[in-house]
This record gives sequence, structure tokens and C-alpha cells, in this order.
Amino acid sequence: MRRNNYRPLARPLWICYQCRAAHSAAANDLRTGQKRNRLIPKTPARTRFAPSPTGYLHLGSIRTALFSFLLAKRTGGQFILRIEDTDKKRTIPDAERRLQDDLRWVGLQWNEGEYYIGLDVWQLGRNTKGSAGPDRGGPYGPYRQSQRTAIYQSYAHDLLTRGHSYRCFCTPERLDMLARHRSQIGLPAGYDRKCIDIRLDEAQERAAKGETYVVRLMVDDYPKFDDLVYGKTGQIASSITKNKLDFMDRVYDDPILLKSDGCPTYHLASVVDDYMMNITHVIRGTEWMSSTPMHISLYNAFNWTPPRFGHVPLLVDENGQKLSKRNADIDISFFRDQQGILPSALVNFAALLGWSHSQKSDVLLLQDLQQIFNLKITKGNTVVSFEKLWFLQKAHAQRVVVTGGAEFKNMVTKVSEAVERQWPRNQLESILHGRTLFEYISLLLRADAKSYTNIEAFLSRNNTFFTASLNRPPYVATSSKKLSSSAETSSSSVAEIHVPLSTLCTAAIALCLVPESHWTAETHRLNIASYNGAVDKSGAKEDLAADRAFERELYHFLRWALSAGAPGPGIPETMEILGRAESIRRLEEARGLTCGMTKSISGFAHNNERPKDPSRKTNSGHTWMGSLAPR
Ligand code: GLU
Repeated sequence: MRRNNYRPLARPLWICYQCRAAHSAAANDLRTGQKRNRLIPKTPARTRFAPSPTGYLHLGSIRTALFSFLLAKRTGGQFILRIEDTDKKRTIPDAERRLQDDLRWVGLQWNEGEYYIGLDVWQLGRNTKGSAGPDRGGPYGPYRQSQRTAIYQSYAHDLLTRGHSYRCFCTPERLDMLARHRSQIGLPAGYDRKCIDIRLDEAQERAAKGETYVVRLMVDDYPKFDDLVYGKTGQIASSITKNKLDFMDRVYDDPILLKSDGCPTYHLASVVDDYMMNITHVIRGTEWMSSTPMHISLYNAFNWTPPRFGHVPLLVDENGQKLSKRNADIDISFFRDQQGILPSALVNFAALLGWSHSQKSDVLLLQDLQQIFNLKITKGNTVVSFEKLWFLQKAHAQRVVVTGGAEFKNMVTKVSEAVERQWPRNQLESILHGRTLFEYISLLLRADAKSYTNIEAFLSRNNTFFTASLNRPPYVATSSKKLSSSAETSSSSVAEIHVPLSTLCTAAIALCLVPESHWTAETHRLNIASYNGAVDKSGAKEDLAADRAFERELYHFLRWALSAGAPGPGIPETMEILGRAESIRRLEEARGLTCGMTKSISGFAHNNERPKDPSRKTNSGHTWMGSLAPR
């Protein structure tokens, strides 16, 4: 059994076998002092995430929750959500709902724990074994501290009768005077134990008469402890050389367990809950590390075996400053709603903050992390670089597009909704040519996934796909650009090849000879490639250079013609997405702007017939149309 013969209060009737096994194994490891594998427990871990609804989830807390979740999953254990809502004054009304939504959004579904819709949902799972359902709950509920006050009170009173705690009747005025006196003579704050000698029966009587009191833990020395991340750590003495000081100047921590309103402090509540809920591993932020020796003292007073503690380091910016609202340690909705970050990218990013792995790639899904997670967590502050987040975002966007499925559908739907908000329906209709917006966006996402960061940036980069009026800047040939820059640098080494605009226009228009049935990126790619070597095939250096110059110039011209020079998918893909009619319209418009001709192929451009003689000859007599030529 995990605990010794001390059993002050009734525990839940049923404790699952796994929990029992986990606890006794963890306790055995500690008791026998065996050198444990620090990186991963050998038995299933029961971990918990215990947020206070005084704020929303931010990057640091999502990472703490993630590490707890992963430790439980990696070891086949359970992850519990407990709401620590004892600070009524600072509670934000929608915080609990928001943090549950955020946890679910990133995929950290708890096995047991609170659910915000029904206060008594925990009872749903009371008789179930293992994970609770349908909306969580579980055998150790309630999982919301404000519903457990009576439990904390009975545990605190039990410590009173066993002499490990005492009632303190000191008034706030006395405590204030004590604090001021201590501060004047340069001593740390603390309590002088004035009430420690009040006999239990006398204290009980005073309490019964309605005198205000708090319950304090009597503690002389705080133990060291073995942190899963930091190793042996902790402070030793809470009392200081009492004999050398006047009575008033003696200092004891003697932390308050029960406040004067009968409510528990965080310390009592979290220790009692972790014990009652059979938590084997507590993963939390380093801000709680200084409280841990006190918590262990409390476990000792109860005669309970403490869980293992692992404290995860602080997140700091590149200047070593704690992340704050100014440098993006804002709640998760900022990443989701304003930055458009995918949940998989955020989870991946959070996992890499202070944790290292030996995989080849940093791009990892939650299910991968569950397989490989361990406690190889860096000591010391973790510097957060948001460049990594954007790298992961791009990688996950590409994965979503390549994998397809529900995640891709969701992405397409969101982009489509944003498009409909930004462009009027009738304008979109003229571009869609009978296709649904969903189909159109799917094509566009597939073609330009490599550059996807978020919806806003994606639409801004690809906005020419949603409007017929391109407002192209005047066309500037790349060769003219080169010529002018080489003239500036008086370089004579680059013999520039000037490709006449009329040639470019003809080549571009010839690409439109493809009938609707063959209008695919692949056909366009082949056709453009077939221009290579169109000038001459003698293999002479100049000819190759001419080919390259022609190809480069043609791409440049096509991009200008089809998307006003904006970056985006490749030219073949752009032509496929725009479709035949819109591509031809744009190319003809471009020809009109550069070569002054507006009518040439439009006669057949808008029907689906295959041209009778689609091949074209260059001056040197080579076939240009590659795959278009009859086979
Ligand atoms: N309620 C505490 C918080 O929100 C949790 C501390 C703990 O994990 O023990 O920070």
C-alpha cells in the first residue's frame, strides 16, 4: 500500500488497480532509494493540470499541461484536469470555459476532470472504472476545489488533533505590527508562534464561541527533495536560531492551511487533492518550486508519501525577460484567432520549449510526442523564438494539405469563409466559372501550401486569384532590368539576350491552345518545358544561354500577365487554378497591354475544341507546342 497505517478520512471506495500499482511503485522507488531512470517512469503516471480560473491559458501553461499530458500518455496513465478556483475574488467568469475549450482545441483531452456545463458532471463517472465520460468527471471528483471545502476542513482539523497544526487567534493588527517590527530590524517576515501553546481544548472552546482563527501547520525544517528536472533541491530551515533572539524576533514559517473564512489555502488544497486523486507525478512551473518543500512537510505531517515533483522552467524572450503580454505570452486565443496558428503547430512548438528529443525532425504531432516523450527537460529559463513557431506552422500546413482528410477540409472551409468575407459573391462567381469555392480553394492550397502561414497572409499573397481586375504595373523585362543594373555597375561581362515582347506574347498565347479537357498544370508544365531548345539545338553555348534567357523571360512575362507579378503558385498551377477561360482572358489582356493586340485566339479560346493544327514553328523551325503536337 502507498500510505502507512494512517487513514484519517474515508477515501473514495474504489481505487483502480492501475492507480494503486502506480502509487506503490513510485513509493517503492523512493523508499528503497533505487536509482530511478529519471527520464521516464516505469509504471503508469497519474498526472494533473490544475489551473486557476483567474486568467486564460497562455503559452507557458499550455506547455505545463502538455508535459503532464504526455507523461501520462507515454506511461499508459491518466491525465486529470482539476480546477483550482479557491480565489473567488480574482476568478474571471469565462476563464474556466475558455481554458477547457483551449485544452480541447490543442487536443489535450483529460481522462478525468471537470466539465463546465454541469456542476455535478463528475458524478457521471463516479461508478465507472478508468476514464470518465461522457463529458469527463471520474471516480475522484469533484474536480473543482470550490466544491471540496468540507474535505479540506476535515483534513486540517485532523492535523490539529494530531498536534501537527494549531489554531492561531492573532488579529490582523497584531500580525501587521509583528511584520512591521521585523521589517524594521531587518528580519524576514514570519510568525512568532504566539498561539502555539494554547491548549487544544481551550482553542476548541474559543473557536466554538465564534472567535476568528486560522489553522497553521507547525513546521521547523523543510526537507530537501529530488526534483525530476532539477535533481536534489530545496531549502532547509524555516526556523532560525531561536535561542539567540527575543521571543518577538523568532521566526517560523508555520504556513496557514485554513483561512479565517474556513477556506483552504492553495497549499492545503493542492496537497489534499493530489493525495486523494492519487497523483503520482506533479509537473508544474518553477514558480511553485519554493513551495514544494512546504508541501512535502505537509505530506509528512499527514504521513502520506508525496508524489514526484518536476518543475518546468520559465519561458523568457530573447533578452532574457519573462514572457509578458508585450512579448506574446498572451492567451491561446491570440495564436488561434489572431495569428491563425494550427493547433498541431502550437502543440509542437510548446513541446520543444525546453524539451529535447533525438528524432531526425522537429516536426512532431501530438501522437508522435506521446510515443517519445520523456523528462529530458532543460534546467534554466527557456528562450522562446517565434521564428520556430512559423517554421512549424508552415510544416504543419503542408502536412495538412498533403494528408487531406478532416483537417484539410477544416482548413479549406476556414479559408473559404475568409474569402467570402473579403470579396463579393458576384465577383467570385466570375472567377469560379461553375466550380465551388471549396474546390477552387482546395486547388489553391494544394498549389501554394509551401508558403502557407495563415489565412490572412495566404489571401494577401494570392489575392489575384479572387479578382478579375489585376491592375498590373507596366511590364518590365528582366533583361532590361539586368541591362540597366549592369550599366550602372559598368559590368561588361553579362551579354544580355533581349527577348522581343512579341515573341513572349505569341509563346504565351500559344499555351492557350490546350483544350479544356487537357487544361492541367501537368500539360502546361510540359508545354512550357517544350519551349526549351526552341531557339536552336546546335548545343552551342550561346544557344543554351538564349534558351535559358527565353525561359526566364517567359516565366517573368507569364507571372506578370496572369497574376500581376505577385508571388504565388508556379505558372502551370496558376493556369490550372484560374482555369482556361480566365487564363486566356488575362493573357489576351496582357498582350493588349504590351503588344497592342487584343484579338487573336479568342475565337477558339472560349470553346473546348482542340485546334486543328496546334503546332507552331519558331524562326529556326522547331516545334514549340510539345505535348500539344498531335501524337
Ligand atoms: N493553481 C495553480 C496555478 O494555476 C497550480 C499550481 C500547481 O500545479 O500545483 O498555477
